[in-house]
Amino acid sequence: MIEDGQLLNYVGGAWKRSRSGEFQDVRNPATAETIVRVPLSSREDVDEAARAAQAAFPAWRRTPPLERVQYLFRFKRLLEEHFDEIAQLTTQECGKTLAESQGELQRGLENVEVATGIPSLMMGYNVEDIARGIDEHMLRQPVGVVAAITPFNFPGMIPLWFLPYAIACGNCFILKASEKVPMTMSRVFDLVEQLGLPPGVLSLVNGGKETVDALLDHPDVRAISFVGSSPVAKYIYGRAAANGKRVQCQGGAKNAVVVLPDADMEMTTRIVADSSFGCAGQRCLATSVAITVGEARSPFTEHIAQVASSRKVGYGLDSGVEMGPVITPESKQRIESLIAKGESEGARVLVDGRNPAIKGYERGYFVRPTILEGVNPHGEIANTEIFGPVLSLMHAQTIDEAIELVNSASFGNMACLFTSSGAAARKFRYEAQAGNIGINIGVAAPMAFFPFSGWKESFFGDMHAQGRDAIEFYTQKKVVVERWPKEWSRTF
Ligand code: NAD
Repeated sequence: MIEDGQLLNYVGGAWKRSRSGEFQDVRNPATAETIVRVPLSSREDVDEAARAAQAAFPAWRRTPPLERVQYLFRFKRLLEEHFDEIAQLTTQECGKTLAESQGELQRGLENVEVATGIPSLMMGYNVEDIARGIDEHMLRQPVGVVAAITPFNFPGMIPLWFLPYAIACGNCFILKASEKVPMTMSRVFDLVEQLGLPPGVLSLVNGGKETVDALLDHPDVRAISFVGSSPVAKYIYGRAAANGKRVQCQGGAKNAVVVLPDADMEMTTRIVADSSFGCAGQRCLATSVAITVGEARSPFTEHIAQVASSRKVGYGLDSGVEMGPVITPESKQRIESLIAKGESEGARVLVDGRNPAIKGYERGYFVRPTILEGVNPHGEIANTEIFGPVLSLMHAQTIDEAIELVNSASFGNMACLFTSSGAAARKFRYEAQAGNIGINIGVAAPMAFFPFSGWKESFFGDMHAQGRDAIEFYTQKKVVVERWPKEWSRTF
């Protein structure tokens, strides 16, 4: 909800102005025009949301699961009815193409669909006669008030990795969406308002670091889900855990694909280009390093340079555009200086996307697809998340050498292999140190009913987002051991 050019928070079932008086401009990255002002909410704003959630919790947890999921069925219908309008907002504030915005919203919706299975998904288990006449049960109960803090690059999908499971399990949920892209969720919460949920079950608090810190410190908030960069993930993991909260933090990435000589080069380069340059490379599952093995080097390099140079870059709402801008001028500057850093470390800029002129969008934050060849595996850019449309090429003599390069990275979000050999695929799947593996797939994004399972510096915590892990995260187990001696009970 927007009032006088500023976004409101949704707290206790009503739209409210933040009390902080501090704002940040939200700009369309293709045009640099200000769309709206987002409040940077204060501790008081967070406290109000947490209290409303805490007050709603006792009745909400007693609401039967089958009744709780009826709200999600309505939510799904409303999201579908407003699908294109929400996707357009995402493109306006985030820059990605309309097809990409539609794609991410669809993946978010799938989480709403999976969460409607909660009556079965949150079942416990039991064993009779663990000793004579004694039975033992495991029950799942909601955690209480839970919160999620989300990044700029998937304004529609990532909040939906958490929200549906949290409330379906009987928790009350507070979202702090990215202050760079707050419009998408603001519009989604217009729809939440129409669901008729009890006030306080779902809240939206806009803001930045101070808002996050208030959530991390609030005694009523029992669990924190985070998705964003690794340094912030580590900080949030530490501070929330020190405050006794359950935490799951998904961090940054530097994903590699390995291309064997027996791969179908035409298909491989098309898929790798989509993975590297889709969403302007601002995807935690983007391919940022391609390692060719043996004779794969020259055909892959030739093809990928061709595909990268011909990608149509522009405003994501214009037809035919395949890649939009990056999120901010700071981001553009950072990406371009990392390309220069790569050059200074000995790489050759095979395709140079710096400072492009995009007709009609001269003020936009554009970087065209860029390819760096011969990147030093021990240099800075080989190990830094660039988070832009930049693909680094490396070469190995054998698959073992390539896997070693993959595993030397500090991140472990995704690793992919392109081949027509089953034995090579099995070896890679077995040995690569990453939580999401793609075989002849460029973006190995798990479906909603599988966990999003990053490793190493890409994840801090135990239970991942989505699927059964989400049920584990949003419920606490209670084990009941019971005995009913005959002599203590009235017999009928
Ligand atoms: P970010 O870490 O800058 O911000 C993420 C969230 O944290 C935002 O809501 C922001 O307000 C908040 N935040 C930022 N700095 C903070 C601080 N110092 N203290 C407390 N809160 C803070 O990330 P971003 O730039 O919005 O998103 C891009 C990053 O997210 C990339 O590193 C990308 O790889 C990562 N990402 C990871 C996944 C995954 O599944 N692993 C998915 C998407 C994005």
